[in-house]
Parts: sequence; structure tokens; C-alpha cells
Amino acid sequence: MTQSLRCRGWRQEGLLRLLENVLAVGERPDQLIVYASLAKAARDWPSFHAIVAALKDLREEETLVIQSGKPVARLRTHAQAPLVVMANCNLVGRWATPEYFYELQSKGLIIWGGLTAAAWQYIGSQGVIQGTYEIFAAIAERHYGGSLKDRFILTAGLGGMGGAQPLAGLMAGARILVVEADEAQIDKRIARGFLQQKARSLEEALACSGSVGLPGNAADLFPEILQRGLVPDIVTDQTAAHDLRYGYLPQGYTLEHWRELRESQPEKVMHDAGTSIAREVRAMLEFQRRGSIVFDNGNNIRSQAKQYGVENAFDIGIFTEAYLRPLFCQGIGPFRWMALSGNPQDIARLDELAMREFPEQTRWIELARQYIPVEGLPARIAWLGHGQRTQLAVKANQLVARGEIGPIAFSRDHLDAASMTHPNIMTENMRDGSDAICDWPLLNAMVSCSSMADLVTIHSGGGGYAGYMTSSGLTLIADGTEAATCRLKLTLDNDTGLGVLRYADAGYELAQQTAQRHGLGGIGLFDAEGRAL
Ligand code: NAD
Repeated sequence: MTQSLRCRGWRQEGLLRLLENVLAVGERPDQLIVYASLAKAARDWPSFHAIVAALKDLREEETLVIQSGKPVARLRTHAQAPLVVMANCNLVGRWATPEYFYELQSKGLIIWGGLTAAAWQYIGSQGVIQGTYEIFAAIAERHYGGSLKDRFILTAGLGGMGGAQPLAGLMAGARILVVEADEAQIDKRIARGFLQQKARSLEEALACSGSVGLPGNAADLFPEILQRGLVPDIVTDQTAAHDLRYGYLPQGYTLEHWRELRESQPEKVMHDAGTSIAREVRAMLEFQRRGSIVFDNGNNIRSQAKQYGVENAFDIGIFTEAYLRPLFCQGIGPFRWMALSGNPQDIARLDELAMREFPEQTRWIELARQYIPVEGLPARIAWLGHGQRTQLAVKANQLVARGEIGPIAFSRDHLDAASMTHPNIMTENMRDGSDAICDWPLLNAMVSCSSMADLVTIHSGGGGYAGYMTSSGLTLIADGTEAATCRLKLTLDNDTGLGVLRYADAGYELAQQTAQRHGLGGIGLFDAEGRAL
């Protein structure tokens, strides 16, 4: 890609390239859909074009305001203010239901922005590959003596996010079978290098080594595998079960029939999807009883199953509490960087820097270099903690300043320490019972604005996530300037710092120790007598 600018500076150009990139690597760009069934990059095509035009003309002293994917204002602010602020899909409590969301969506008033779709932070499957790999690696550590070699993973869904599972499983050393209702998705993942083989039957799939996609419905095939007496080592699911209308193929439906009926008879489709999910989750529970490690991978499948009669659906654990919370307590989470020039050499250079600075990341980065194909703008994700993110970003900005690499964008997933409330994913079973309090992501977004991030966004759930979640996101452009160094330092340190304090406040000793080690005690941490911890 060219170094030439279409905007007034790299900050604006960087954000524009990120918007273009989420569509380039997204699932259905013609409909502006990036992933997760309906998660969009912009409200509609006129909004998309208006955003592009605004970014091209935007001055440093202005802020573009975006409401659910539609640009609504260009305000005069100042050069230290964010260039773009967004709020996507936020509904007040009583109205935050799937039905009301669909109604507003059909009127063109709102979109579901996913976590990183409307925020233009999605980098293709790599982000979720790393997240899934971290979970598999943590399971290996905890249950299988540190290795998944010769272990068998059963899962479903090869969509925008779920498509990461076969590669993550392979990278962790396991054999992995993914059930997928839409055969075209299997072919697509094979073509993109994320999946090795397609099976024609369950027998063939079970005989395969490596990663294999099996066409079929998980609600049929999970119980069938169970009936054969097989007990996989790990079982999960990443269909878009969060969305009963558009995300989960009900049993007995063809794809064509489903696409037709979800418009003409949405209530029937939602009911049939719920019943089918219940069947799949019953099989997952039985796998768990027989010894499989079973976890919910963030698609609300347990909530849907419970609603459809599986009282003990929550006997299945959530991946965050089980495996990731200790990392969040240390401010470690899914940090990512993208080469805005489009030059893969820039990422190679930063890979070397990251491996030198953080040797504990070496294995992941080497695996990523070996297995992860470039999608859209070259990018890398690594789970870095408080202080580490700033260290890397500031050094990268110096390389940009010296002209050794092109400008770099830094961002993170919304599923990070301070930035998400989702009582059935991120904040389930918080030690102090603060699961549903969404002050933290709101505070996080405000702190990011105060810290001069280039883009700041607040999202809430749509479809089946309506009423379930609120999250915040941020993006920074390292353009080699002194001002960028300042933005990077303040934003990245405050972001992870607030995250550590969020868990410290909830009573997690690991977070309290991390806060003390980094001098983050502040005023939030005090004992019953009000003494600073
Ligand atoms: P997607 O809509 O792109 O893909 C879903 C896939 O599931 C499709 O390929 C579809 O054909 C398949 N599918 C639907 N019903 C099926 C069935 N009954 N049997 C087998 N396959 C079926 O969605 P996505 O972007 O891959 O996201 C999947 C889910 O993961 C979503 O609920 C999303 O919100 C969630 N998610 C979780 C995390 C996380 O934090 N772990 C991150 C991102 C997304």
C-alpha cells in the first residue's frame, strides 16, 4: 500500500485505513458486515461514504462523532482531543432486548457493532486465534501436563470468529473437529489457510488427524458423537448462538429455508434455534460429566440454553473466569498493532522488537509467523501487560520517527481488563458480586478520551447480546511525532492501569499486588479503616 495520504495527516489516514481494513478482512463487506452474524462497520453505505469524506477532510482540531455507525457531527475541539468518538448500539435497560434491537435495526436507527467491527479494530482471524490459543494453552497447562499433543477438541462454527478455532487448536498441538452448517464456510477457511481438511462423514472426520471441518448441524452431531461413546478432551462451540434469529441454524432446516423463514417467521425461527441449542448444550453437559473439559467461548450459548429449559446450563464454565481472569488481574490482554503502510516488513521488525523485549511472547510470535496468513493490513497481536504495551508502542513510534518503519496503529480487543462488562462472559462470578456493573467500561472510555487516544468508542450488545454487555475500545496512531509518544504513554498506561484497579477493587489479590508493584494504588485501594493498601 502507498505511503501517500488522502487525509490531512497520518492520524486521520490511519483511521480511514482501519475502516477500509475491517471490510477487507470482514465476512460480508457488500453488506458492511464484519463478523458475528450482524456486526457492522458502518450504519449503511451513505454513512460509510460520509465517514470516509469526513475523515479525508478532518482537521487535527476536530472530532468526528459517530452514533451507531452514522456520522452525526464534526465538532471543533483541539489537537489533543480524540479525532473520532463513537457510541454504538447503546439502549437503556428496559429497552435493551433482541426484539427491540431488531425493530430499531430495521428502521435503520441502530447497528450491532460487535466489539471491534464498528470500532474499525478487527484485524481478521488473528485476534481470536490468539485468544483461543491462550485458552487451549491454559487448559493444557492446567489439565494435560502442559501439552495438547494427541488430544482431541470438538467444536462448532467456522464464521468470522469461529474460523480461528482450527488453527488455534493446531497451534496448541491438538486434533480438532469443527462442525459447520454452511459448507461454503468450510471451503473458505481451507482456502484462507485456517483449516486443513473437509470430511464427508462423521466417520471420515473422526479418522482425520490435524484440523477437519464437518458439514452438519451441531445440534445433530454433538449428540451423535456422544451416542457413539466418544469423549473428546475439550468441547466448546463458536456458532453465533448469541443471535437466535440470524446466528444459529435450527435442526432440520436447510440454509435456504432458514434465510427465508427468519424474515417471514422470525418468532418460529428463534424458538426452533433455542430448542436446538438446548439439545446441543445437553450434549455438552453430558460430555463434561464424562470427563471432557467443556467451556463457553463467549457466544451466550448457556444463556440461550437455559432460556430453553436447560436449568443446569451454567454448570459449563466461562472461558474468561476459568482461564483469563488471572491475566486480566495483571493488565495482560489482547494488545495488537497494524502496519498502516501495508508493508509486512514493518510487522516483522516489530515482531523482533517484541520478542527481544518480552521473551515470554517469543513462542506465540514464532507460531504466528509460521501459521497465520496475512489478512488485510499486516498485523500482530500479543497478550502484553501493564507497562509492556507502552514500552513496545513508544519504541515503535521511535522507529517510525526514524523512518525505519511506516506508521503503526495500536489497539486492543474490547475484551480486556477495564473495558468490558458482560456478566455471562467477562465478568461472570466477580469476587465482590459486581458482575453487572458497567461503570468500568464507561470510565475506561472517558479515561481514554482524557488520555488523548485517537479513537474512543462505547458499545453495547445487539441481537442476543442486547442487555448483556457494554464495552469500550480505543485506537492510537503512532505517526512518529512527539505528540504520539505522549498519547501512547498516557492512554496505554491508563487503560491497563484502570483494568488492574478494577480487579483489585473487586478483591483479587493478584491485581492488588500488581497495582502495588506498579504504584497504581491511587485512592481506590484501601482497607476497611480507609488505610491505603
Ligand atoms: P459468524 O456469524 O461469522 O459465524 C457463525 C457460524 O456458525 C456460521 O458459519 C454458521 O454457518 C455456523 N452455524 C450456525 N448455526 C450452526 C449450527 N447449528 N451448527 C453448526 N454451525 C452453525 O459468527 P462469528 O463471528 O464466528 O462469531 C461466533 C460467536 O462467537 C458469536 O456469538 C460471537 O459473538 C462470539 N464471539 C466470542 C468471542 C470471545 O470473546 N470468545 C469473540 C468474538 C466473538
